[in-house]
Amino acid sequence: MSLLKLIKGAEVYSPAPLGRLDVLLCDGKVAALATDIQMPAEHCQIIDGRGMLLLPGLVDSLVHISGGGGEGGYHTRTPQMKVEDAIVGGVTTLVAALGTDAVTRTLPDMLAKARALEHEGLSTYCYTGSYQVPVRTLTPSVMDDIVLIDKFIGVGELAISDHRSSQPTLQELLRVASDARVGGMLSGKAGIVSVHVGEGDRRLALLHEAVEQSELPPRQFYPTHINRNQSLLEAGVQWCRRGGVIDFTTSTNAQFVAQGEIPAAQALAYALEQGVDIRQLTMSSDGNASLPVFDQHGQLVGLEVGRVSSLWASVCEAVQQYHVPLETALASVTISVADLLKLPHKGRICVGSDADLLLVDSSLTIQSVLAKGQWLMHHTALLRKGTFS
Ligand code: ZN
Repeated sequence: MSLLKLIKGAEVYSPAPLGRLDVLLCDGKVAALATDIQMPAEHCQIIDGRGMLLLPGLVDSLVHISGGGGEGGYHTRTPQMKVEDAIVGGVTTLVAALGTDAVTRTLPDMLAKARALEHEGLSTYCYTGSYQVPVRTLTPSVMDDIVLIDKFIGVGELAISDHRSSQPTLQELLRVASDARVGGMLSGKAGIVSVHVGEGDRRLALLHEAVEQSELPPRQFYPTHINRNQSLLEAGVQWCRRGGVIDFTTSTNAQFVAQGEIPAAQALAYALEQGVDIRQLTMSSDGNASLPVFDQHGQLVGLEVGRVSSLWASVCEAVQQYHVPLETALASVTISVADLLKLPHKGRICVGSDADLLLVDSSLTIQSVLAKGQWLMHHTALLRKGTFS
């Protein structure tokens, strides 16, 4: 197959709207963008993009790729993510994490799964650690993990304000964060601390203390699930006023929303109305996390699994239901995430960026997905499947 691909005449969002352009791909990268690029067809696969939108592949900053859950007993451990789940949802880059369970779920298992997904066509990164402090690591320390293991770009999701958290003290949190930060500096990575924020009334208080009692900047921390309820969302907006970044979770179910969770698309629209810069707002799927369903007596009656495809669904909802401009909604799952995670070749379309691209029709249905210049889906037909699918 030709190393060169030329997508002609699509409406390009970088995620900023660039108008109708031809985009030349070479060797897995974007090689050129211009109003008219001509290439001989015998050396180049030419794709008619007219009538379509060409968007960056999505960057999902929190997926339990090797499974999560387990809070209702062994039988409630969720299954692994399949590569198809990411492809049909337009996710070409993801960051893997463990969750509550770092006993039966392990970093070596997650790392192996991340490498498998990379082989199957995606770009994958990982957080070391889990909910708990002291942090479980692969090498003797968080810093070593980030410096020495390519896929580790940070630590998390560390749980705070949650009954499942190990209730870290300020000093414990500061030690983990500074180890991650220096590890990131030494390896040219983000060295970020992904923070799972639970339902507790303390909300983001520990993070405010952390930046007040240290030299760490707010962007060292990346709190997620901020759309859990209205008061946490308000706390999130305050955190942004301080310079922080917040993340909204797109996987949900009707019961969560009935109990006060704010759909991620609505939370995004709300934060933008409050004047928060889109560079401080991201969405992630929390894919393959467990979504427990309880009856009116509080008994567990069912379990659902978070879907990676909820990420794109939330972008569509933000645009179609909450009238967020496409380039803004798109930024929350592309460039805002990629910049925070120091992935400069991801989440954008520019010369030199990775050729991770989506072709989307005018109703925002994903038609085709390219990752590192390879077709994973074309005209809605899956071209890449998991090894055992
Ligand atoms: Zn979480």
